[in-house]
Amino acid sequence: MASPMDEALEAGSSLPWAKLGGRALCDACLGRLVGKAGHGLTNAERGGALRERFGVPAGGPCWLCDGLLGEVRKFAELSAAKLEPWEFRTFLVGSKVDPEVAAREESLWSELGATQAEAIKSELNREIGKRLEARFRRPAEFTRPDVVAIVDTAFDSVSVTVNPLFVYGRYRKLVRGIPQTRWPCRRCGGKGCEHCGGKGKMYETSVEEIIAAPVMAQTGGSGHALHGMGREDVDALMLGRGRPFIVEIKEPVRRTVDLMAVVAAVNRTGQVEVADLRPATGDRVVALKEDRARKSYRVLVRLEAPVEDGKLKTAVSSLVGQPIAQRTPVRVSHRRADRTRERLVTAIEVSRHDGATVELRVTAEAGTYVKELVHGDGGRTIPSLAGALGVACEVVELDVLDIQDSG
Ligand SMILES: [Zn+2]
Ligand SMILES: [Zn+2]
Repeated sequence: MASPMDEALEAGSSLPWAKLGGRALCDACLGRLVGKAGHGLTNAERGGALRERFGVPAGGPCWLCDGLLGEVRKFAELSAAKLEPWEFRTFLVGSKVDPEVAAREESLWSELGATQAEAIKSELNREIGKRLEARFRRPAEFTRPDVVAIVDTAFDSVSVTVNPLFVYGRYRKLVRGIPQTRWPCRRCGGKGCEHCGGKGKMYETSVEEIIAAPVMAQTGGSGHALHGMGREDVDALMLGRGRPFIVEIKEPVRRTVDLMAVVAAVNRTGQVEVADLRPATGDRVVALKEDRARKSYRVLVRLEAPVEDGKLKTAVSSLVGQPIAQRTPVRVSHRRADRTRERLVTAIEVSRHDGATVELRVTAEAGTYVKELVHGDGGRTIPSLAGALGVACEVVELDVLDIQDSG
Protein backbone atom coordinates (compact mmCIF):
# COMPACT_ATOMS: atom_id res chain seq x y z
CA MET A 1 0.00 0.00 0.00
CA ALA A 2 1.21 3.46 -0.88
CA SER A 3 2.10 5.77 2.03
CA PRO A 4 0.29 9.13 2.32
CA MET A 5 3.45 10.86 1.11
CA ASP A 6 3.62 8.53 -1.90
CA GLU A 7 0.04 9.48 -2.72
CA ALA A 8 0.83 13.19 -2.47
CA LEU A 9 3.90 12.82 -4.69
CA GLU A 10 1.93 10.73 -7.16
CA ALA A 11 -0.69 13.55 -7.37
CA GLY A 12 2.16 16.05 -7.83
CA SER A 13 3.77 14.04 -10.64
CA SER A 14 0.90 14.90 -12.99
CA LEU A 15 1.24 18.67 -12.52
CA PRO A 16 3.20 20.77 -15.08
CA TRP A 17 5.55 22.44 -12.58
CA ALA A 18 7.36 24.43 -15.29
CA LYS A 19 4.19 26.49 -15.68
CA LEU A 20 4.83 28.07 -12.26
CA GLY A 21 7.50 30.14 -13.97
CA GLY A 22 8.97 32.72 -11.65
CA ARG A 23 6.18 32.52 -9.10
CA ALA A 24 7.52 31.48 -5.70
CA LEU A 25 5.24 29.49 -3.40
CA CYS A 26 5.66 28.81 0.30
CA ASP A 27 5.63 25.14 1.36
CA ALA A 28 2.00 25.32 2.53
CA CYS A 29 0.72 26.89 -0.70
CA LEU A 30 2.74 24.40 -2.73
CA GLY A 31 1.47 21.41 -0.76
CA ARG A 32 -2.10 22.66 -0.90
CA LEU A 33 -2.07 22.12 -4.69
CA VAL A 34 -2.33 18.38 -3.85
CA GLY A 35 -3.95 18.97 -0.43
CA LYS A 36 -6.58 16.29 -0.89
CA ALA A 37 -4.04 13.56 -1.60
CA GLY A 38 -2.26 11.79 1.25
CA HIS A 39 -4.27 11.69 4.45
CA GLY A 40 -2.83 13.05 7.71
CA LEU A 41 -0.04 15.18 6.26
CA THR A 42 0.22 18.93 6.70
CA ASN A 43 0.33 20.96 3.51
CA ALA A 44 3.77 22.23 4.49
CA GLU A 45 4.97 18.60 4.63
CA ARG A 46 3.47 17.89 1.22
CA GLY A 47 5.03 21.09 -0.14
CA GLY A 48 8.51 20.30 1.19
CA ALA A 49 8.46 16.88 -0.45
CA LEU A 50 7.12 18.21 -3.77
CA ARG A 51 9.78 20.92 -3.84
CA GLU A 52 12.53 18.37 -3.40
CA ARG A 53 11.15 15.79 -5.85
CA PHE A 54 10.16 18.15 -8.66
CA GLY A 55 12.81 20.83 -8.15
CA VAL A 56 10.38 23.68 -7.44
CA PRO A 57 12.55 26.71 -6.54
CA ALA A 58 12.25 28.21 -3.06
CA GLY A 59 12.76 31.74 -1.78
CA GLY A 60 11.09 35.11 -1.92
CA PRO A 61 7.70 36.05 -0.55
CA CYS A 62 4.91 33.63 -1.51
CA TRP A 63 3.20 34.78 -4.70
CA LEU A 64 -0.08 33.28 -3.57
CA CYS A 65 -0.56 34.04 0.14
CA ASP A 66 2.16 36.69 0.64
CA GLY A 67 2.99 35.25 4.05
CA LEU A 68 -0.61 34.82 5.27
CA LEU A 69 -0.07 31.21 6.24
CA GLY A 70 2.83 32.25 8.46
CA GLU A 71 0.37 34.27 10.52
CA VAL A 72 -1.79 31.38 11.70
CA ARG A 73 -0.45 31.65 15.23
CA LYS A 74 -1.33 35.34 15.42
CA PHE A 75 -4.86 34.66 14.11
CA ALA A 76 -5.28 31.90 16.69
CA GLU A 77 -4.17 34.25 19.47
CA LEU A 78 -6.53 37.00 18.31
CA SER A 79 -9.37 34.46 18.20
CA ALA A 80 -8.57 33.06 21.64
CA ALA A 81 -8.61 36.55 23.13
CA LYS A 82 -12.00 37.28 21.57
CA LEU A 83 -13.46 33.97 22.74
CA GLU A 84 -12.04 34.24 26.25
CA PRO A 85 -14.95 36.19 27.83
CA TRP A 86 -17.55 33.63 26.69
CA GLU A 87 -18.30 30.30 28.29
CA PHE A 88 -18.60 27.62 25.61
CA ARG A 89 -18.38 23.88 25.25
CA THR A 90 -18.07 23.82 21.48
CA PHE A 91 -16.65 26.28 18.97
CA LEU A 92 -15.94 26.73 15.29
CA VAL A 93 -13.53 28.93 13.33
CA GLY A 94 -14.29 30.56 10.03
CA SER A 95 -12.20 33.01 8.04
CA LYS A 96 -12.47 35.69 5.42
CA VAL A 97 -9.71 35.76 2.85
CA ASP A 98 -8.88 38.70 0.61
CA PRO A 99 -10.80 38.02 -2.63
CA GLU A 100 -7.61 38.72 -4.62
CA VAL A 101 -5.80 35.89 -2.87
CA ALA A 102 -8.68 33.50 -3.56
CA ALA A 103 -8.76 34.61 -7.20
CA ARG A 104 -4.99 34.03 -7.61
CA GLU A 105 -5.40 30.58 -6.12
CA GLU A 106 -8.23 29.61 -8.47
CA SER A 107 -6.41 30.84 -11.53
CA LEU A 108 -3.36 28.79 -10.52
CA TRP A 109 -5.51 25.66 -10.13
CA SER A 110 -6.90 25.99 -13.61
CA GLU A 111 -3.52 26.83 -15.14
CA LEU A 112 -1.94 23.71 -13.64
CA GLY A 113 -5.04 21.56 -13.95
CA ALA A 114 -4.87 20.82 -10.21
CA THR A 115 -7.80 18.58 -9.30
CA GLN A 116 -6.82 17.64 -5.74
CA ALA A 117 -6.14 21.13 -4.40
CA GLU A 118 -7.45 22.50 -1.13
CA ALA A 119 -8.64 26.12 -0.75
CA ILE A 120 -6.55 28.47 1.39
CA LYS A 121 -9.60 29.35 3.46
CA SER A 122 -10.06 25.74 4.40
CA GLU A 123 -6.43 25.41 5.46
CA LEU A 124 -6.63 28.60 7.53
CA ASN A 125 -9.79 27.42 9.29
CA ARG A 126 -8.25 24.07 10.09
CA GLU A 127 -4.87 25.36 11.23
CA ILE A 128 -6.33 28.13 13.41
CA GLY A 129 -8.89 25.60 14.68
CA LYS A 130 -6.17 23.10 15.64
CA ARG A 131 -4.39 25.72 17.76
CA LEU A 132 -7.66 26.69 19.45
CA GLU A 133 -8.47 23.04 20.10
CA ALA A 134 -5.16 22.73 21.94
CA ARG A 135 -5.63 26.05 23.72
CA PHE A 136 -9.19 25.34 24.94
CA ARG A 137 -8.80 21.56 25.15
CA ARG A 138 -11.94 20.78 23.20
CA PRO A 139 -12.62 19.80 19.58
CA ALA A 140 -14.04 22.12 16.95
CA GLU A 141 -17.72 21.41 16.32
CA PHE A 142 -19.31 21.83 12.90
CA THR A 143 -23.02 21.22 13.43
CA ARG A 144 -24.06 23.27 16.46
CA PRO A 145 -21.15 25.24 17.89
CA ASP A 146 -21.85 27.45 20.93
CA VAL A 147 -19.57 30.15 19.54
CA VAL A 148 -18.08 30.92 16.11
CA ALA A 149 -14.96 33.04 15.62
CA ILE A 150 -14.67 34.61 12.18
CA VAL A 151 -11.14 35.76 11.36
CA ASP A 152 -10.85 38.57 8.84
CA THR A 153 -7.34 37.96 7.55
CA ALA A 154 -7.16 41.21 5.58
CA PHE A 155 -7.82 43.37 8.65
CA ASP A 156 -6.38 41.17 11.42
CA SER A 157 -9.70 41.29 13.23
CA VAL A 158 -11.91 38.60 14.73
CA SER A 159 -15.64 38.79 15.28
CA VAL A 160 -17.44 36.32 17.50
CA THR A 161 -20.96 35.04 16.99
CA VAL A 162 -22.45 33.62 20.16
CA ASN A 163 -25.26 31.21 19.47
CA PRO A 164 -28.35 31.22 21.72
CA LEU A 165 -28.94 28.94 24.65
CA PHE A 166 -32.19 26.95 24.74
CA VAL A 167 -34.04 25.46 27.70
CA TYR A 168 -37.11 23.26 27.33
CA GLY A 169 -39.81 23.00 29.98
CA ARG A 170 -43.56 23.10 30.73
CA TYR A 171 -45.26 26.07 32.34
CA ARG A 172 -48.45 26.55 34.26
CA LYS A 173 -50.02 29.99 34.47
CA LEU A 174 -51.85 30.42 37.74
CA VAL A 175 -53.23 33.95 37.39
CA ARG A 176 -55.21 35.74 34.70
CA GLY A 177 -54.13 38.88 32.89
CA ILE A 178 -50.62 37.84 31.86
CA PRO A 179 -49.78 37.36 28.17
CA GLN A 180 -47.52 34.51 27.08
CA THR A 181 -44.89 36.77 25.55
CA ARG A 182 -43.82 40.33 26.12
CA TRP A 183 -46.36 42.50 24.37
CA PRO A 184 -44.89 45.79 23.14
CA CYS A 185 -47.04 48.92 23.46
CA ARG A 186 -49.14 49.36 20.31
CA ARG A 187 -48.74 53.09 20.36
CA CYS A 188 -44.98 53.53 20.87
CA GLY A 189 -43.76 50.10 19.78
CA GLY A 190 -41.68 49.66 22.95
CA LYS A 191 -39.96 53.01 23.39
CA GLY A 192 -42.25 54.05 26.24
CA CYS A 193 -45.03 56.64 26.02
CA GLU A 194 -47.92 58.10 27.98
CA HIS A 195 -50.27 55.33 26.83
CA CYS A 196 -48.13 52.59 28.41
CA GLY A 197 -46.88 54.62 31.37
CA GLY A 198 -43.33 54.62 30.01
CA LYS A 199 -43.06 50.83 30.23
CA GLY A 200 -43.12 50.27 26.48
CA LYS A 201 -45.44 47.30 26.90
CA MET A 202 -49.13 46.58 27.30
CA TYR A 203 -48.83 44.35 30.37
CA GLU A 204 -46.68 44.63 33.47
CA THR A 205 -45.15 41.20 32.87
CA SER A 206 -45.53 38.03 30.81
CA VAL A 207 -44.91 34.30 31.12
CA GLU A 208 -41.83 34.91 28.97
CA GLU A 209 -40.38 37.57 31.26
CA ILE A 210 -41.12 35.58 34.43
CA ILE A 211 -39.41 32.45 33.09
CA ALA A 212 -36.52 34.27 31.38
CA ALA A 213 -35.59 36.51 34.35
CA PRO A 214 -33.70 33.91 36.42
CA VAL A 215 -32.09 32.38 33.30
CA MET A 216 -30.97 35.83 32.16
CA ALA A 217 -29.55 36.55 35.61
CA GLN A 218 -27.53 33.31 35.52
CA THR A 219 -26.32 33.56 31.92
CA GLY A 220 -25.90 37.29 31.37
CA GLY A 221 -27.73 37.04 28.03
CA SER A 222 -28.52 40.06 25.87
CA GLY A 223 -32.16 39.17 25.23
CA HIS A 224 -34.73 36.39 25.26
CA ALA A 225 -37.66 34.81 23.45
CA LEU A 226 -40.26 32.25 24.46
CA HIS A 227 -41.49 29.64 21.99
CA GLY A 228 -44.65 27.91 23.16
CA MET A 229 -46.61 24.93 21.90
CA GLY A 230 -49.47 27.26 21.06
CA ARG A 231 -50.64 29.98 23.42
CA GLU A 232 -53.48 30.68 25.79
CA ASP A 233 -55.37 33.95 25.97
CA VAL A 234 -54.17 36.68 28.31
CA ASP A 235 -57.16 36.04 30.59
CA ALA A 236 -56.92 32.23 30.53
CA LEU A 237 -55.16 30.05 33.09
CA MET A 238 -52.82 27.30 31.93
CA LEU A 239 -53.26 24.32 34.24
CA GLY A 240 -52.74 20.54 34.22
CA ARG A 241 -49.24 19.40 33.29
CA GLY A 242 -48.57 22.79 31.76
CA ARG A 243 -47.67 23.96 28.28
CA PRO A 244 -44.41 22.84 26.63
CA PHE A 245 -42.09 25.73 25.78
CA ILE A 246 -38.52 26.52 24.86
CA VAL A 247 -36.97 29.67 26.25
CA GLU A 248 -34.19 31.13 24.10
CA ILE A 249 -31.44 33.24 25.65
CA LYS A 250 -29.49 35.34 23.17
CA GLU A 251 -25.71 35.81 23.47
CA PRO A 252 -25.26 34.14 26.86
CA VAL A 253 -21.95 34.93 28.56
CA ARG A 254 -22.34 31.81 30.73
CA ARG A 255 -23.94 28.54 29.62
CA THR A 256 -24.00 26.57 32.82
CA VAL A 257 -27.53 26.97 34.13
CA ASP A 258 -28.72 25.76 37.53
CA LEU A 259 -32.16 24.58 36.40
CA MET A 260 -33.32 23.79 39.94
CA ALA A 261 -32.64 27.40 40.92
CA VAL A 262 -34.63 28.58 37.88
CA VAL A 263 -37.58 26.40 38.90
CA ALA A 264 -37.42 27.75 42.45
CA ALA A 265 -37.23 31.39 41.31
CA VAL A 266 -40.13 31.09 38.84
CA ASN A 267 -42.35 29.13 41.21
CA ARG A 268 -41.79 31.70 43.96
CA THR A 269 -43.62 34.31 41.87
CA GLY A 270 -46.94 32.55 42.45
CA GLN A 271 -47.94 33.63 38.93
CA VAL A 272 -46.20 31.01 36.83
CA GLU A 273 -44.80 27.56 37.64
CA VAL A 274 -42.32 25.57 35.58
CA ALA A 275 -41.36 21.90 35.57
CA ASP A 276 -39.38 19.36 33.51
CA LEU A 277 -36.68 21.91 32.64
CA ARG A 278 -33.87 20.53 30.50
CA PRO A 279 -31.32 21.77 27.97
CA ALA A 280 -32.64 21.95 24.40
CA THR A 281 -31.39 22.82 20.94
CA GLY A 282 -32.65 25.39 18.46
CA ASP A 283 -33.86 22.80 15.95
CA ARG A 284 -36.45 21.61 18.52
CA VAL A 285 -38.23 24.98 18.34
CA VAL A 286 -39.88 24.35 14.98
CA ALA A 287 -41.14 20.91 15.99
CA LEU A 288 -42.50 22.31 19.24
CA LYS A 289 -44.33 25.16 17.54
CA GLU A 290 -45.77 22.88 14.89
CA ASP A 291 -47.05 20.26 17.34
CA ARG A 292 -50.77 19.77 16.71
CA ALA A 293 -51.58 18.45 20.18
CA ARG A 294 -55.21 18.27 21.24
CA LYS A 295 -56.16 20.44 24.19
CA SER A 296 -58.77 20.30 26.95
CA TYR A 297 -60.39 23.36 28.41
CA ARG A 298 -62.64 24.39 31.24
CA VAL A 299 -65.12 27.01 30.04
CA LEU A 300 -67.45 28.93 32.33
CA VAL A 301 -70.41 30.24 30.32
CA ARG A 302 -73.17 32.66 31.22
CA LEU A 303 -76.35 32.21 29.19
CA GLU A 304 -78.54 35.20 28.37
CA ALA A 305 -81.55 33.18 29.58
CA PRO A 306 -81.76 29.93 31.58
CA VAL A 307 -82.13 26.75 29.53
CA GLU A 308 -83.29 23.28 30.50
CA ASP A 309 -80.81 20.49 31.06
CA GLY A 310 -82.09 18.39 28.19
CA LYS A 311 -81.88 21.24 25.71
CA LEU A 312 -78.33 22.02 26.84
CA LYS A 313 -77.22 18.40 26.49
CA THR A 314 -78.68 18.17 22.97
CA ALA A 315 -76.99 21.40 21.91
CA VAL A 316 -73.65 20.33 23.36
CA SER A 317 -73.66 16.92 21.71
CA SER A 318 -74.55 18.47 18.34
CA LEU A 319 -71.16 20.22 18.37
CA VAL A 320 -69.08 17.08 18.88
CA GLY A 321 -67.58 15.09 16.03
CA GLN A 322 -68.54 17.38 13.17
CA PRO A 323 -66.39 20.06 11.53
CA ILE A 324 -66.69 23.52 13.07
CA ALA A 325 -66.14 26.24 10.47
CA GLN A 326 -64.30 29.17 12.04
CA ARG A 327 -63.65 32.42 10.30
CA THR A 328 -60.76 34.35 11.87
CA PRO A 329 -62.26 35.87 15.04
CA VAL A 330 -62.85 39.59 15.26
CA ARG A 331 -60.61 39.80 18.35
CA VAL A 332 -57.52 38.55 16.48
CA SER A 333 -58.34 39.85 13.00
CA HIS A 334 -55.90 42.76 13.38
CA ARG A 335 -52.96 40.33 13.47
CA ARG A 336 -54.14 37.27 11.53
CA ALA A 337 -55.27 36.75 7.95
CA ASP A 338 -59.01 36.61 7.41
CA ARG A 339 -59.88 33.06 6.40
CA THR A 340 -62.22 30.26 7.33
CA ARG A 341 -60.92 26.92 8.53
CA GLU A 342 -62.40 23.79 10.04
CA ARG A 343 -61.63 22.29 13.41
CA LEU A 344 -62.97 19.26 15.25
CA VAL A 345 -64.29 19.14 18.80
CA THR A 346 -63.75 15.62 20.11
CA ALA A 347 -65.61 15.86 23.42
CA ILE A 348 -67.73 18.25 25.46
CA GLU A 349 -68.93 17.43 28.93
CA VAL A 350 -71.27 19.56 31.03
CA SER A 351 -69.59 19.59 34.42
CA ARG A 352 -71.97 22.08 36.06
CA HIS A 353 -75.29 23.56 35.04
CA ASP A 354 -77.27 25.94 37.17
CA GLY A 355 -79.96 27.70 35.16
CA ALA A 356 -78.02 30.33 33.23
CA THR A 357 -74.53 29.30 34.36
CA VAL A 358 -72.80 26.39 32.65
CA GLU A 359 -69.37 24.90 33.09
CA LEU A 360 -68.04 22.81 30.22
CA ARG A 361 -65.01 20.58 29.66
CA VAL A 362 -64.12 20.87 26.01
CA THR A 363 -61.52 18.78 24.16
CA ALA A 364 -60.65 20.08 20.71
CA GLU A 365 -58.09 19.95 17.95
CA ALA A 366 -55.12 22.33 18.09
CA GLY A 367 -56.04 25.78 16.83
CA THR A 368 -59.73 25.67 17.75
CA TYR A 369 -61.06 29.06 18.85
CA VAL A 370 -62.94 27.88 21.93
CA LYS A 371 -64.48 31.21 22.95
CA GLU A 372 -65.93 31.54 19.46
CA LEU A 373 -67.18 27.94 19.57
CA VAL A 374 -69.26 29.05 22.55
CA HIS A 375 -70.54 32.49 21.55
CA GLY A 376 -70.48 32.11 17.75
CA ASP A 377 -68.62 35.38 17.06
CA GLY A 378 -71.58 37.00 15.33
CA GLY A 379 -72.03 34.05 12.95
CA ARG A 380 -68.34 33.72 12.04
CA THR A 381 -68.14 30.33 13.82
CA ILE A 382 -70.72 27.76 12.69
CA PRO A 383 -72.05 25.76 14.45
CA SER A 384 -71.67 27.24 17.94
CA LEU A 385 -73.22 26.67 21.34
CA ALA A 386 -75.10 29.97 21.14
CA GLY A 387 -76.44 29.04 17.70
CA ALA A 388 -77.46 25.54 18.77
CA LEU A 389 -79.26 26.89 21.86
CA GLY A 390 -80.70 29.98 20.23
CA VAL A 391 -79.51 31.85 23.33
CA ALA A 392 -76.63 34.32 23.54
CA CYS A 393 -73.64 32.92 25.46
CA GLU A 394 -70.84 34.78 27.19
CA VAL A 395 -67.52 33.19 28.12
CA VAL A 396 -66.77 34.23 31.70
CA GLU A 397 -63.64 32.13 32.22
CA LEU A 398 -61.53 29.91 30.02
CA ASP A 399 -58.70 27.74 31.28
CA VAL A 400 -56.49 25.24 29.52
CA LEU A 401 -56.63 21.99 31.52
CA ASP A 402 -54.34 19.80 29.46
CA ILE A 403 -52.17 19.71 26.36
CA GLN A 404 -52.10 16.19 25.02
CA ASP A 405 -48.68 16.31 23.42
CA SER A 406 -46.53 13.25 22.96
CA GLY A 407 -43.72 14.53 25.21
ZN1 LIG B 1 1.87 30.83 0.60
ZN1 LIG C 1 -46.17 53.14 24.75
